[in-house]
Amino acid sequence: MLYQKTISHAVEVKGIGLHTGAPSSITFKPAPPDAGVYFFRQDISGLPSLKASSRNVKATQMATVLGGELFAISTVEHCMSAVSALQIDNLHIEMTGPEIPIGDGSANPFFEGLKKATIIEQNALRRYFVVKRPIYFSQGDKHAYIVPHYGFKVSCTIEFPHPSIGKQKIELEITQDNFEKELSQARTFGFLKDVKALQAKGLALGGSLENAVVLNDEGVLNPEGLRFEDEFVRHKAMDAVGDLTMLGYPIIGHVVLHKAGHDLMHRFVEHLIGQTDCYDIMDLESPLNLNQVFSPLYPKAKLS
Ligand SMILES: [Zn+2]
Repeated sequence: MLYQKTISHAVEVKGIGLHTGAPSSITFKPAPPDAGVYFFRQDISGLPSLKASSRNVKATQMATVLGGELFAISTVEHCMSAVSALQIDNLHIEMTGPEIPIGDGSANPFFEGLKKATIIEQNALRRYFVVKRPIYFSQGDKHAYIVPHYGFKVSCTIEFPHPSIGKQKIELEITQDNFEKELSQARTFGFLKDVKALQAKGLALGGSLENAVVLNDEGVLNPEGLRFEDEFVRHKAMDAVGDLTMLGYPIIGHVVLHKAGHDLMHRFVEHLIGQTDCYDIMDLESPLNLNQVFSPLYPKAKLS
């Protein structure tokens, strides 16, 4: 928890892009301390790159897309949620095209790929976004807020007027184990009529029952069914963990979300960054650091 981490050697994850349907692969490579996570477009001369950061988010309609002047890096959230859950701070991610592979529609291919690379500690302290006071944000009937909490916890509720979804809720401390068991395998989902409309526009060409849960008006079309009864809200929580990495620091706090999507998450992260009275950026080398934040809230808290 104290030190920054990277991976020991390069590892590749192959697949297809959701929108193009074209083969796409990414290679995770080690990066030095304090580098952060950078995406590189290997297919473009000059190897342009972008940091995973809210200031580089260009679009949030279908997925979280990073963008430079002439290039895009699409669908970063599943990959970044695995990076976050494994507490990896520094990484170079080389891409063969504009889209990160969709895999099976979950974070699992990235989580398993990164675990194969062996995660190593580096000689630099991790710095955290430690929430001292609640920060609220809302947009219409969508809400996001964060409150002080000793750990990183996500609560998420969704409401879809569909017989297979309805109201669902999850509340989870985001540790590596919990992420692996509860969130990593939850797949993205879509409605058949929306998929058809997207494909008519030349989008979601790689979309299939192999990489998404697809619903018609009555139920789930995938012959294998759901991986969890509440797979939908688990996927939303996983997406949120990925989108929160755009803050640039791991969070010590409890994030509560209602009807969140990529657009709300991006606006929420931008809002959080502006509330400088409500958080500290600090390392945890000395328990004193955290005690200063938490002892007024939890006088009996023992931090070890
Ligand atoms: Zn997703």
